[in-house]
Amino acid sequence: MDLNLSNKVFIVTGGAKGIGAAISKTIAEEGGIAVVVGRGKADNIKITDEIIKSGGKASYVTAELGTPAACREVIDFTSEKYGRIDGLVNNAGINDGVGLEKGSPEKFFESLHKNLSHYYNLAHYALPFLKQSKGNIVNIGSKVAVTGQGNTSGYAASKGAINALTREWAVELLPYSIRVNTVLPAEVWTPLYENWINSLPNPKEKLEQIVAKIPFEKRMTTAEEIADMTVFLLSSRSSHTTGQILFVDGGYTHLDRSL
Ligand code: NAP
Repeated sequence: MDLNLSNKVFIVTGGAKGIGAAISKTIAEEGGIAVVVGRGKADNIKITDEIIKSGGKASYVTAELGTPAACREVIDFTSEKYGRIDGLVNNAGINDGVGLEKGSPEKFFESLHKNLSHYYNLAHYALPFLKQSKGNIVNIGSKVAVTGQGNTSGYAASKGAINALTREWAVELLPYSIRVNTVLPAEVWTPLYENWINSLPNPKEKLEQIVAKIPFEKRMTTAEEIADMTVFLLSSRSSHTTGQILFVDGGYTHLDRSL
């Protein structure tokens, strides 16, 4: 199946590591141009070099996305360099463990900035270009939005809001033929996941317990499996799919946990 991504421009936040890196690479493998956005310059250079050495097209913007100005710069850079934006992948996020009990109003608000505000800000600033290209938005959410996790109020609130905004933006953008969807992972081995599991007592045992409860093949989802769904949604081959929240999680969220 040709995804028709040739020379189309896609912004991927958090595109240098984990799930975002897999999305950036898959976009480039399919002939698209990946604009990698992340706060680590060395990470950004590493992934763009890797893509370019494999014959793909990519560039990067180094930005901490917690302010509207930083988001504006990402859109300005991309539109000035390529003259178009065909898709936005809102992926950057961090499970920062700001709980109800072990947290504070200030930390909660900060967590919303780290995990939610930039999803809106980038979509807002990208909109004029997405209208021109009839492009689309894919958000990366989390199972936490529907299952809860405990001790992570800021992250959970952000991911819940992202599900709601997926429907809200899909409706608002109908007149422009801009599609909006969310891919929702549960357990994917990435630097973020590794840090999180290592923050728990007995991480090895905890990981074994989690993996044993993943219904499909008792294994974690790979970052590439999340990327494949994301890139399919970005492509014109999913041209009548909008407002959807797709769980790419081996059945973890919905199937019977006693399986
Ligand atoms: P990751 O391994 O930490 O990679 C995320 C990348 O985004 C990192 O390079 C990180 O930079 C960057 N980043 C995060 N916040 C940023 C910000 N405010 N500004 C600029 N860059 C930022 O994470 P991942 O596991 O691939 O997660 C990607 C997405 O999937 C997140 O939205 C996460 O909530 C979601 N998700 C993941 C899982 C999972 O099992 N891994 C499950 C559910 C949902 P640093 O390296 O400097 O932190």
